[in-house]
Amino acid sequence: MRRRSCPGCGVPFQSDDPEAYGYVPAEVLARDEAALLCRRCFRLRHYGDAAGGPPALEAVRAAVGQAVKAADCVLLVADAFDFEASIAPPVRDLVRPPLVVAVNKVDLLPPRTPLPEVGRWAEGRLAAAGLPRAEVHLISARTGWGTRRLWERLAQRAGRGTVAVLGATNVGKSALLAHWVQAVGYQGPAPTVSPVPGTTLALLRLRLVQDGFTLLDTPGIPPPGRVSDRLCPECAKRVVPDRRLQGRLWQVAPGQAMMLGTLAVLEAAGPVPEGTVLIAYGAQGLPMHRTRTDRVEQLLARPPRSWADVPCQNCRARLAEAGCAEHRITLAHAHDLAIHGLGWVTLRGGPLDLRLRLPEGVHWTVRPNLLGPKDRWPAP
Ligand code: GDP
Repeated sequence: MRRRSCPGCGVPFQSDDPEAYGYVPAEVLARDEAALLCRRCFRLRHYGDAAGGPPALEAVRAAVGQAVKAADCVLLVADAFDFEASIAPPVRDLVRPPLVVAVNKVDLLPPRTPLPEVGRWAEGRLAAAGLPRAEVHLISARTGWGTRRLWERLAQRAGRGTVAVLGATNVGKSALLAHWVQAVGYQGPAPTVSPVPGTTLALLRLRLVQDGFTLLDTPGIPPPGRVSDRLCPECAKRVVPDRRLQGRLWQVAPGQAMMLGTLAVLEAAGPVPEGTVLIAYGAQGLPMHRTRTDRVEQLLARPPRSWADVPCQNCRARLAEAGCAEHRITLAHAHDLAIHGLGWVTLRGGPLDLRLRLPEGVHWTVRPNLLGPKDRWPAP
């Protein structure tokens, strides 16, 4: 259902006067997003001031640290699609027990994904990343799935105290809070940031009084190394999935490469055991194709041929200026190679030596597979 007023300030949306409260461009308003905010609240929330410009990481860290210190319980919101990026430092360094982790966007997982298995997988990944022991909830802020149960658990754990809500940018923290504001009933002062004297940021304090506890929202923490953060807003939108993921199969063969747009190139760097398959998961808007390795350079140098090519010419030029990096990775059966901010590939068969080409500074992680049979995992 279309929201008529901004959940940040309560002012009715309007698309006529960009200088007035409640302004949202008409095309954004038409998208009917659950997490829609007016331009003023969006800027306040994401950039700490209405003039725009991202806040310095140190200021974000300080604001989050302050909220975590004051809290009786910490809620970390992570992204099921980009899990590794959403628990990487500096996010992981800011959490402390008692910790609840909400793995958001599970609506993107393919149908019939066994969710209890995903929950155990997430627990394993959190432990491997050195996070404190946490209660894990799978949720979808978009559909509301799992959010009531999460709310009830927070109410139990916080009593009449405070829950600090933190997460990397774009994990869907605003969408979750907006969902709760709507579903639970919000009775406090308008939840728009008001600057704390002496800082460029403020904490957005929501008092969701229905169950007597306070949620302290915090500014989104920008994680380093995500492809999506290197792109213009249009290209970034195209690499973030919007519908259920569908794996795309690549029968690995010597002399062939797989290209994820022109953002990542994968090729076998050694012998390929028979029947080795990579299954790629990424946004529907991200073109993925196989090609001969001797054509890769040519394809990387070719300007985008249509609006459907990702990234656009401007992004390509910017990325080219920063340079690219080549990584050698050995991937074992039933493991994923996750490229932060882009997606992942799962290996069936193998083992496989891979050459991975990425824009300089983009991070990747090898992990046990998120989707598909969890057979033949090495003992922890
Ligand atoms: P924040 O930066 O953590 O506050 O993230 P936002 O709430 O602004 O969400 C970032 C993007 O993720 C937006 O495009 C949202 O529409 C999308 N998003 C948020 N929650 C969900 C979810 O549960 N499922 C899906 N598929 N997308 C979501």
